[in-house]
Amino acid sequence: MTTLKGRSWYGGVLAPEVRYLSARLEIRPNFAAINQALRPSRCIWVLTACMGVSQLVAAQAPPAPVVPSSRFVVVLDAAHGGDDSGGRLNGQEEKAFTLALSVRLRSLLGARGIQVLTTRESDTNVDLNRRAEMANHANAQACLSLHGSESGSGVHLFVSNMAPVQPVRLAPWKTAQAAWVTRSLALAGTLNSALLHAGMTVTLGRTTLPTVDSMTCPAVAVEIAPQRDAGKKLVAELDDSGYQARVAEILAAALLEWRTEVHQP
Ligand SMILES: [Zn+2]
Repeated sequence: MTTLKGRSWYGGVLAPEVRYLSARLEIRPNFAAINQALRPSRCIWVLTACMGVSQLVAAQAPPAPVVPSSRFVVVLDAAHGGDDSGGRLNGQEEKAFTLALSVRLRSLLGARGIQVLTTRESDTNVDLNRRAEMANHANAQACLSLHGSESGSGVHLFVSNMAPVQPVRLAPWKTAQAAWVTRSLALAGTLNSALLHAGMTVTLGRTTLPTVDSMTCPAVAVEIAPQRDAGKKLVAELDDSGYQARVAEILAAALLEWRTEVHQP
């Protein structure tokens, strides 16, 4: 459970009830056809249920920063950490799985010249709003919230279920992602294509995602499950390092493709 009461944001410069969101005006009408609303996994629902966060007052945003066209930043959010272990994954805690995946993916992206910001680098508690805050300050072109689950098969991609809205100067913190949902769907589409092309099973969904819902970037929750064949027979477990490496490689390749799409004139 997280509360924003009494928090001192940005070193106490701003009152705790006020959040400034940077309204970035680069929405393009690029709808990905992934509105297939599937049942969210237990992990995502747990996140939703735990989000008893008090609402914040919208504040006037400063002018949108000018982002150089060559700039491309990816935020990797290793979900859970510290006291929040997440789910139990075939003998390991989800928080360790997500951190390992984040580290692996960061390394792959860094080797390809992509700037990466991670929300945590160790087994620490990082509250959900702080994660979104870090992502928003990065002005990222892609934000992936990483999860693991024993349920289902392959990779589950979740986008916020909020209806798209035009960017506004007064962006409520809790629904800031609404102005980015269209881009998030496009990002999910690119991830989906790469995963399917590599032979992975992919499940697409829309749901309430507390961290993602406050992000002002193309944002997708990526939940990795064991790989199963058509007969539901287990092909690769989550603790299979080869499987982890394969998923990370596909996601890295997909983000390279996304960078190309983002930088198209
Ligand atoms: Zn999780």
